[in-house]
Order: sequence, then structure tokens, then C-alpha cells
Amino acid sequence: MSIFSPRRYQPPFYPVSRENESIPLRMFTAFERTTKGWLFGCRMCGNCILQETAFICPMTCPKGLRNGLCGGATPERCEVDPTRPCTWYKIYERAEKLGRMDKLLEINAPIDGSRAGKETWLEVIRKWRDNKDLRLVEFVTNREKFNEEKEKVFYEIRQPDWWQGDAKYHPPAYNEPISILEANLRASDFVTTAEIAPPLGASGDTILKKADLLKGYVAAANFTDNASASARMNSMASSKICLDSGMEPIMQMQARDRSRVILEADAMGAAGLGIHNILCLSGDHQRFGPGPMVKPDQFDMDAVQVIWMLRRMRDEGVYLDGRAIKQRPAFFLGAAASPFGAPPKYEAIRAEKKINAGAQFIQTQPIFDYNRFLEWLEALDQRNLLDKVYILGGLIPLKSARAAHFMADEVPGVVIPDEIVKRIDNAGDSNGQQEEGVAIALEMIEKLRNTPGLNGMHIMAVHWETIVPRLVEESGIPRPVMDKMPEVTAVPT
Ligand code: SF4
Repeated sequence: MSIFSPRRYQPPFYPVSRENESIPLRMFTAFERTTKGWLFGCRMCGNCILQETAFICPMTCPKGLRNGLCGGATPERCEVDPTRPCTWYKIYERAEKLGRMDKLLEINAPIDGSRAGKETWLEVIRKWRDNKDLRLVEFVTNREKFNEEKEKVFYEIRQPDWWQGDAKYHPPAYNEPISILEANLRASDFVTTAEIAPPLGASGDTILKKADLLKGYVAAANFTDNASASARMNSMASSKICLDSGMEPIMQMQARDRSRVILEADAMGAAGLGIHNILCLSGDHQRFGPGPMVKPDQFDMDAVQVIWMLRRMRDEGVYLDGRAIKQRPAFFLGAAASPFGAPPKYEAIRAEKKINAGAQFIQTQPIFDYNRFLEWLEALDQRNLLDKVYILGGLIPLKSARAAHFMADEVPGVVIPDEIVKRIDNAGDSNGQQEEGVAIALEMIEKLRNTPGLNGMHIMAVHWETIVPRLVEESGIPRPVMDKMPEVTAVPT
């Protein structure tokens, strides 16, 4: 139990090596670990950001997210462990009470493993001592200057040289569109993408069939990345098969189960294969998989951090470790958003962080509650975000009453109003339910295409991709305006 944070989800980290650690230093570290554990549920990550998170330790989040809540967070509970509150929900609430919401926008670094488990208090003292402009007396005589210098000390500690996160918007450092999707989004008022589930087996035939079915109807096809922590053909291979068939893919890339090294390597590999649209996700917790479950700490980075890292690889030509990249990768970077989990004002902060980090397009969770979706869009507008990103509203055509109930009750971040569930329930046999599902989808498409600030939609008709051409035809939404790769695909070096 801790006083200021939810309880620790996992025990604290211990140092990779205790080489050159004297006995007194080890005793001091143990004292710090005990005190901070008791106060904040501290896990000794070695990269303390308590000041940015309203003095609640983000490492008590089961996914270890350091930049905001996940798509399944609700005011009542954490999606991973329903016996605990969502850490990030608590952070937003307390930051709001303390007037520290602006602090939540800085993009926090992933943990530096070489610092994990080590003391940080001595480091603060050392940095404080080295800053000759930080004088205690000015706490009384010149508070503004004192706070400015203090902030410099803490910024240096929480933002290592290899990260340098900030709270600013970073527009892409290139001019010509990098992908067909980007070209379509620039040229058209309403762009549609659709999801194709990667196959369970090793044959790419189903991908070819589904890609063929969607050609001419959607601008690009998403391939999920081991969604719900269940293994399938990976997103990169599926994307490449799709690309070779003449349809542009959007490769989804989850941070779960991947270290920063693999994330960089996979993204670079994708760019090398000609896959340019990358949708970055934190990922579903491994608890949602079929099991046996992998060990709990499987998140090295979160989605915001992955976007920040890939944007810097593209625009600054550096790996995380500082090595220069000769041929920079051409990424058109995407993110997911959840307009329905937490209140829109909190979700908008999370979206702003992703956009500031480098997200150029956003695909949302499926929309069934249109009014709530508008509130979220409004919250983004109030933060002046709508001109900085393309937003594609999520759409799931409901195939049956069973699917509607499953999604309403079991899928984190999805909200289906009762009247929609009732419509499907009362639609008769399976054929009637399916037709009602199509009718509901067409009504929503009509609303979405007339929504200011929205740039298109993303259809997630998983295992029912055959319905996509019908939805596009019957709704009369625009077809892709471009189906060839633009000439320029390399980022200037
Ligand atoms: S709901 Fe998500 S963000 Fe909140 S504590 Fe749980 S895993 Fe972390």
C-alpha cells in the first residue's frame, strides 16, 4: 500500500549490476526504495517523473505507461487488474485539482535500464550542487528564478540526452506525400481505410483475396499486430503480401512484446520493404491473450514514445542510441485514439501528446455513440489539434446480436448505446440482425461524412471484409482518388 499512489503492480527494479557500489551506497538505495515505495509505490525506475504526474507514480500502471492512459481505461477500474483504479485516471484527476494539467504534455522517456534500481536522490543533490544559479535563498527572495533553475535541474534528470522530450508540436520535416494514404488524405475530403485480419496460418492467399476485394474501395488496408495478445501472421509479412498485390498497407506495430531495439529494427525493415504507413500502438495487455501468459512486464515503451522515436529516425536521422542513419526511413505515422474511455478532456491530452510526438493520422475506436464522439472532437478542436492531424473515425458493422453484446460488455474502450443493442436484438434471425447491422453502419457513415474536422473513416469489419464494398457503394462515400505510389518516397537527408 502506498500513501500517494495506487499500490505497486510489480516489485521494484534492482540494478543490472552492483559493480562499484559501496555498502553505504547500497544501504542508502535500500532506504530510498523503502521510503519511496511507502509514499509513492515507487518501482525505482531511475528516471523519476513524479513532478510531471501530479506526484502519482506512473510505474504503478500495469503496462508501465509513462505518457497517459490506455484505450481501455475507465473511471472505475484498470483494464488489466479490475481490483485497482487506473493509475493514469488518478493522475489526470489530481493534476486537474492541483492546476498542473500543462505538465502532462511533456513526452516522457522510456526507462534507462542502466539507471533502473539505483538511487536518484543523490543524483538530484549532485545536479543541484553543480547548478551554481540555483540558490536556496531565492526560494524566498526571487521565487520565479528559483523555480526556473529548479526546473532546469529536474529536466536534465528526467529527459536524458538520448531522448530530449518536450511538450511542443513537431511537424513532419518533408513536403511531398510519403504514401498513397497520405496523398489521398491531402487530396480528398473523405478517405476510407479498412482492416484485414492477418491469417492464422502461413498462407497469404486470404490476404490476396481480401485485398483484391477492397481495391478501388479503400485507400489502404490495416493489418493488426497480434491483437488481443494472440499470435497470427505478423503485421509486416501481411503488409508486404498486400503491398505486392497492389494495395497499400498500414502496418500496425504494438509496443507490447517488443523492446526499443526490435521496434526500431522492425520499423526500419518495414520501410526497407516499401511499407510506409505505420500505426503505432501500446498494445493490448498480455492478459487478454489465450495464454499461457508471458511474464507481466512486457512493455518497454508506450505508443507516444514509439511515435517520438520513429519521427526522430525519419526527420533527424538518428537511432535512439545516437547512431546516425544514412538512408532515412520514410514513415507516415499513425496512432489510435479512444474517444469513449475517459472523459474527452483527458483523452484529448493523450491525443495531443501523440500528435506532438509525430502522429500524422489517427484512427479511432469504433463509433456507436456519435454525440460522445463529437464531444471528443470538440475537445481536440479546443486544443487546436484538428489542423495538425488527419482523423479517421472508426466504424464496425455489427454482424449479429452476439457480436453487439460481446463488444458492449467485453471490449475495453468500446461503448454501444442500449438502443443500438436493442435494435439488433429485435431484428429477428441472423439474416435480419445482419441487415440491421448494415443499416446502423450506413446511418453512422452518413453522420461521419458530414462531420466537420473529420477526414474519413476506418472500417473494422474483421472476418466480414466482404461487407466493405457494399457499405462504400450504398453510402456513396468517395472512392480513393489515387491508387499509385507517389514518385517521392524518400525523406531528404
Ligand atoms: S487502465 Fe491502462 S493506463 Fe490505466 S492503469 Fe490500467 S493499464 Fe494503466
